[in-house]
Amino acid sequence: MSWTASAETMISEQIVARGIRSEAVLAAMRSVPRHLFLPHSLRESAWIDSPLPIGEDQTISQPYMVARMTELLMPSKGEEILEIGTGSGYQAAVLAAMGAQVTSVERIRSLAEQAKKILAELGYDVTVLWSDGSGDQGLKGRSFDGIMVTAAAPDVDPSWDEMLRPGGRIVVPVSVASGGERLLLRKKGPLGTFENIWHDYCRFVPLLKGRKGERLCCGEGPNE
Ligand code: SAH
Repeated sequence: MSWTASAETMISEQIVARGIRSEAVLAAMRSVPRHLFLPHSLRESAWIDSPLPIGEDQTISQPYMVARMTELLMPSKGEEILEIGTGSGYQAAVLAAMGAQVTSVERIRSLAEQAKKILAELGYDVTVLWSDGSGDQGLKGRSFDGIMVTAAAPDVDPSWDEMLRPGGRIVVPVSVASGGERLLLRKKGPLGTFENIWHDYCRFVPLLKGRKGERLCCGEGPNE
């Protein structure tokens, strides 16, 4: 089966079947070659209904979760979006396919480099930074229309609220007392007040502090 046929089956059986209706999200998911964001040995499994390992004990998210988080954030064309937790780069590609201008930060150097490479090869408009997105190091002074966190956060970090423009949205899996996480959509109103709307229960790898990887030289990353 060609990858486009696999993508079509994934969309109808895993995404539309679970209630995602946004044509923009479905078109973006249809267009991104998910298999190319995985190690060679896992490419045949790329379209299954599950997260998959990408090395460094990290995972590419389940397709449904990518679709759901994209639908909640709903970036419009040209909006500036920050993703925290680049991982494979797949979610960043889906956001870019929606027409967003994406900056994505990843704390593990090897993953950041691999994601940067494949995103560039495929021509996606994504800036990948080797950086810790859990605080405000490195992104000081930047502002975004939307922030998507793809690792489990204990809470909303104040720096995310601050970087968000009025009218902006944050989508983040927040740890809950019963175990696991729950997707939070946090909206910033025109006057800077926030509204929280809770959605699906889910499971993500944890958001961790600090960068991991070799520091080759000076001045190479935004945390310097
Ligand atoms: N969005 C990814 C899946 C991410 S898995 C994809 O589409 O493949 C979560 C990622 O978040 C992991 O790669 C992990 O290293 C990264 N991460 C965890 N804590 C982080 C932090 N503080 N800053 C940046 N990245 C972080």
